[in-house]
Amino acid sequence: MHKNKIWLSAPHMGGSELKYVQEAFDSNWIAPVGLNIDCFEHHLEAYLGSHHVAVLNSGTAAIHLGLILLGVQAGDTVICQSMTFSASANPILYLGATPVFIDSEPETWNLCPIALEEAIVDTIAKGATPKVILTVHLYGVPYKIDEIRAVADKYSIPILEDSAEALGSSYKGQQCGTFGDVGIFSFNGSKIITTSGGGAIVTHSKALKDRAIFLATQARDIAPHYQHSEIGYNYRMSNICAGIGRGQMEVLDYHIGLRRSIHEFYIELFAAIEGVTVFKVPNATYFSNYWLSTILINPLETNGITRETLRLALEAANIESRPLWKPMHLQPVFCNYPYYGNHIAETLFNNGLCLPSGSNMTPEDCNRIKFVILKLFGKKEVISKKR
Ligand SMILES: *Cc1c(COP(=O)(O)O)cnc(C)c1O
Repeated sequence: MHKNKIWLSAPHMGGSELKYVQEAFDSNWIAPVGLNIDCFEHHLEAYLGSHHVAVLNSGTAAIHLGLILLGVQAGDTVICQSMTFSASANPILYLGATPVFIDSEPETWNLCPIALEEAIVDTIAKGATPKVILTVHLYGVPYKIDEIRAVADKYSIPILEDSAEALGSSYKGQQCGTFGDVGIFSFNGSKIITTSGGGAIVTHSKALKDRAIFLATQARDIAPHYQHSEIGYNYRMSNICAGIGRGQMEVLDYHIGLRRSIHEFYIELFAAIEGVTVFKVPNATYFSNYWLSTILINPLETNGITRETLRLALEAANIESRPLWKPMHLQPVFCNYPYYGNHIAETLFNNGLCLPSGSNMTPEDCNRIKFVILKLFGKKEVISKKR
């Protein structure tokens, strides 16, 4: 077996991260306050446009605080995209609220506006208006922004926008993370940029940002002693991690360009392979960072090759790939909560695979992946021709 593993999405440092971490050491701000935090937030705010950003120690923490800022309490109902990472849904349960899971539509794989409205109408008929709609931009592809906003506004329900996978993606020129009433990002190790672990909450007002920081730093009242009138959390980002984030912001757009060329590589590779489609944006109003390149395999058109056949073939060559997110309504921990839809997400899960997409993949890595894929799909002649 090849000794170097090709990962799905490995961290990719730009070069100046250590300098900012060193600065934190030199100034002794080894704490959840300091210059790196301020600078990282300013970079993100400048990148997004007219929004306010507070950096936190995880994307999950950002979702938890986002739900709190939007008023979610025990007993409330929160509508949530079913096809996502469990971190989207877990904070709903932290608060003692009830998730209602919604299917995907086939174009962006995100929240289906029709199933969404059906769920809202049904939940209202049962006596409670949903408190929040939690949307996700899967794999960096923006959801149907206009359609979902129209439904949310019709019923006056705020949107919590889980943009964990979509920093740098945009719709009609507007950055993902800024469409919700509150938005969030993740800087976990596998995301488009990383602070080793971290997240951010995006708000429309300075007051809401300050409120998020207040809650993230144990909700201390203004007093010389420790005085508390509310329950707080320890969710602020460390100044060390923020130093990494500061360096990563300098290469964000460059790394997005690299991810997008890997997506192009897969489009070309699979163009000649029947029964495999590379997932892409529906039209030019959508811009994806293509955090992960993903494919759908139709075994009826591939002589029975499934996404699992391909995954195992890649694994045998020390190449990591992974099935798409397993929908929340199919997860043992969430399967008893309501679900609305037509099982699109289920079909995607059964047939979809995430392929290695890291911005630090080399041409040799791409060749190794290509070799395994062409061999599996019986395109040996293509290999010999290209050599
Ligand atoms: C990564 C991710 C999160 C969680 O972020 P963490 O920083 O790992 O806590 C939430 N939602 C989605 C869709 C993610 O991909």
